[in-house]
Amino acid sequence: MISNIPENAPVVIIGGGIIGVSTLYHLAKRGVRAVLIERRKLASGTTWHAAGIVGQLRDSTAQTELGKYTARLFRELEEETGQATGYKPNGTINLALGAVRHEQLLRSHDHAARMGIESYLLSVEELNEKWPLIRTDDVKSSFFVPSNGQVNPLDVTVALSKGARMHGAQIFENTKVTDLILRDGKVIGVETDKGVIATNKVLLAGGMWSHLFAKAMGVTVPLHAAEHFYIVTEPVAGLPKTQPILNIAEERTYWKEDTGKLLIGAFEQKGKPYGVDGIPEDFEFDELPFDMEHVEANLEKMFERMPPCPKWASRPSLTGRKALRRTAAPIWARPPRSGALSCNRHELQRHPEFRWRRADHGGMDD
Ligand SMILES: Cc1cc2nc3c(=O)[nH]c(=O)nc-3n(C[C@H](O)[C@H](O)[C@H](O)COP(=O)(O)OP(=O)(O)OC[C@H]3O[C@@H](n4cnc5c(N)ncnc54)[C@H](O)[C@@H]3O)c2cc1C
Repeated sequence: MISNIPENAPVVIIGGGIIGVSTLYHLAKRGVRAVLIERRKLASGTTWHAAGIVGQLRDSTAQTELGKYTARLFRELEEETGQATGYKPNGTINLALGAVRHEQLLRSHDHAARMGIESYLLSVEELNEKWPLIRTDDVKSSFFVPSNGQVNPLDVTVALSKGARMHGAQIFENTKVTDLILRDGKVIGVETDKGVIATNKVLLAGGMWSHLFAKAMGVTVPLHAAEHFYIVTEPVAGLPKTQPILNIAEERTYWKEDTGKLLIGAFEQKGKPYGVDGIPEDFEFDELPFDMEHVEANLEKMFERMPPCPKWASRPSLTGRKALRRTAAPIWARPPRSGALSCNRHELQRHPEFRWRRADHGGMDD
């Protein structure tokens, strides 16, 4: 790892989570040797904790194109960088329990056909064959996308950072951006605890820290961290490594194979904000205490859906944090005064590549 930060850079990226590292990689591939500054270790914020589920079908054509690109990238990065991403195209199965969700699955099936993504509506027999562990008596329909999959988020981060460095980008860990230097309302540099870098382009990719950093610059970022939990069961005998990922939107749960165990995540009806009074300075690869009272209703749903689940779920459960807001589309803003500060919130499959493609080809919607 290089220790001396440069005096100047064409772009400075704040934050070494998946968004910062992906941006660095894509810029470097286009010949822009950007510099990334990470306060602790790469991926030590939210990224390391992700379940790693990669879905391609999104609300719009542009986001679905981005999902397709990402699934392809996660396959190809190993060849380019020598670092595997752990991409397993196990496929996803989405269930509908009621009429509204059923209609949505039919539309997703149409959308998939239009976007050239292979997909199937499964019969109950086919569903039982693919997911024998769950109760299916109340399932109205199910929808299978074989090319969706799952990755190891840490491995993806390493692969992207390796690829970025191969193309001349620089990464500085254990370095914190403490301030932006502005002149006439425009960014001219960033101040770090290891010195100043002159630049006129800054990307704030600070995840759940972004809104606090931006607030100090007088910019409002409508993003706040919330706790998010999943459980990991004991090893489940006979669970294949190729087990498709299961999404039950009406119960707000997702299920995936994880080294011979089941990882089951849930979104609560009422979320629990994290870091309202600030985030601890020493935060790095942290987990939060498991709040049983808060997640009990979700656990009950999981156990009803898969009756043997309590037997396997004796292992302590994990809680992470997600930076959340009301809609799924990216935040990408040019603040009124500083001119060059962009802020965003994406997930693993929403690389900033999207915007550059849009700039290249024009006409893509969000
Ligand atoms: C339990 C869980 C499961 C998830 N599952 C999935 C999933 O299956 N699929 C999916 O797509 N997404 C999933 N997500 C969401 C996904 O993990 C996040 O959307 C994504 O990792 C956010 O990446 P990021 O780069 O924006 O933020 P982060 O990973 O938090 O990175 C931000 C980085 O910025 C650094 N930083 C902040 N301020 C500064 C500063 N001033 N100077 C220098 N560095 C700074 C931080 O140290 C941090 O490393 C999950 C999240 C959780 C918690």
